[in-house]
Amino acid sequence: MRCPFCSSEDTQVKDSRQAEDNTAVRRRRLCGKCAGRFTTFERVQLRELTVVKKSGRRTPFDRDKMARSVMIAMQKRPVEPERIEQMISGVVRQLESSGNADISSDQIGELVMEGLAGLDKVAYVRYASVYKDFRATADFETFIEEENLVGPDEDHGKDKNDSFEGKI
Ligand SMILES: [Zn+2]
Repeated sequence: MRCPFCSSEDTQVKDSRQAEDNTAVRRRRLCGKCAGRFTTFERVQLRELTVVKKSGRRTPFDRDKMARSVMIAMQKRPVEPERIEQMISGVVRQLESSGNADISSDQIGELVMEGLAGLDKVAYVRYASVYKDFRATADFETFIEEENLVGPDEDHGKDKNDSFEGKI
């Protein structure tokens, strides 16, 4: 496994343990060249998934790419990394068991949103804002109301950005 910091191939496994309810093996690795430490996960891949974009373009499904988008939404949220990993694995398992090797980016987005809804409301709204490509604050407000993320007594008269922050 190549070191993500210096690209050296001289890396060693220092520790190996079961993770995510024994569906993955987590390995701590050490680079012999730059002493960088990093973690890899080994998982069963049930089937090769292909993402079909709206344009018709096809790309292999990339778990890491999906995980990065989730991590961005989860930034500084008080949720244990293990629970986030479990959620991501859950999304992948659902995609893999959907019976179809071709999946749409919408399918991924919807499943990630479902997963985030159960983990953290702030991350959910952050992800939705990117996924649904909101362009105006008004879209956020409509969305938050539609999803019942605010109580009926909230003050709607304040500055839009302030009230958005305050509500969540
Ligand atoms: Zn290195």
